[in-house]
Amino acid sequence: MTTLPPIREVIARHGLAASKALGQNFLLDEQLLARIAALPGDLSGARVLEVGPGPGGLTRALLRAGAKVTAIEMDRRCLPALTELGEAFPGQLTVIEGDALKLDHNALMNGQPFHVLSNLPYNVGTALFVRWLGGPKDGQSWPPLWQSLTLMFQREVADRIVASAGEDAYGRLAVLAQWRAEAKLAMKVHRSAFTPPPKVMSAIVHVTPAAMPEGVSARMLERLTESAFGQRRKMLRQSLKGVPGALEALANLGIDETRRAETISVAEFVAVAKALSA
Ligand code: SAM
Repeated sequence: MTTLPPIREVIARHGLAASKALGQNFLLDEQLLARIAALPGDLSGARVLEVGPGPGGLTRALLRAGAKVTAIEMDRRCLPALTELGEAFPGQLTVIEGDALKLDHNALMNGQPFHVLSNLPYNVGTALFVRWLGGPKDGQSWPPLWQSLTLMFQREVADRIVASAGEDAYGRLAVLAQWRAEAKLAMKVHRSAFTPPPKVMSAIVHVTPAAMPEGVSARMLERLTESAFGQRRKMLRQSLKGVPGALEALANLGIDETRRAETISVAEFVAVAKALSA
């Protein structure tokens, strides 16, 4: 195994004091990082996109797993440490300085399939996640080029992604994550694992693409969930009043219009969207 100095030492040598504005909470425990890098399965020879490598803790675990990593980092202070890491793994690491929210990830990965791993900055995490899932304004083709997403979130956001109907955390994010993908909570991470520790607990979500249900418009599904969860405590006959044809579709599908959005399963939302997409 390539011998590298401890990450704490890399941070000290390059003066990488964590910046709050950039959402920096670093992971230093190499065993934990190796376990995270193993979550997608064997990465030997696989292409990986990492957002926010920072001083490179997760990056080194990915490189050790044999991945070819493209890493997008916004904080130029981290670049010398990442260059050093790249030199220890010749030909395996490409570092892009920039804002991951503004870059075309498929183009960066040369249109080839890739895995995404990231200890996301909390402030941009959900925005990137929605984009990878082909959220509201993005016409993501399906299946996407990414083969898996392994992402650190605040525990509360992770719960919202994997929630089922009837649970408090269930809402638009769960439907978006689950209607054509499988999302599971892969690992809980205690706040004390980070330096500095954030105020909240974290968890890693693992997502893989699933078959897209036929005849369903992503935009229609989005419109439905926006209306339904916009007034989540109201009955569907009230919250979906503004979506043309929705109440008829509910009646045809035998879904009681007095139910509330939070009780409607992903499959039921998909069925209504399909009826309205026809
Ligand atoms: N991966 C490292 C680890 O696990 O220790 C660092 C994680 S830290 C929570 C988030 C990293 O994302 C920081 O290095 C930060 O500079 C970077 N970052 C923040 N916003 C970004 C953006 N929009 N695009 C790319 N990187 C960003």
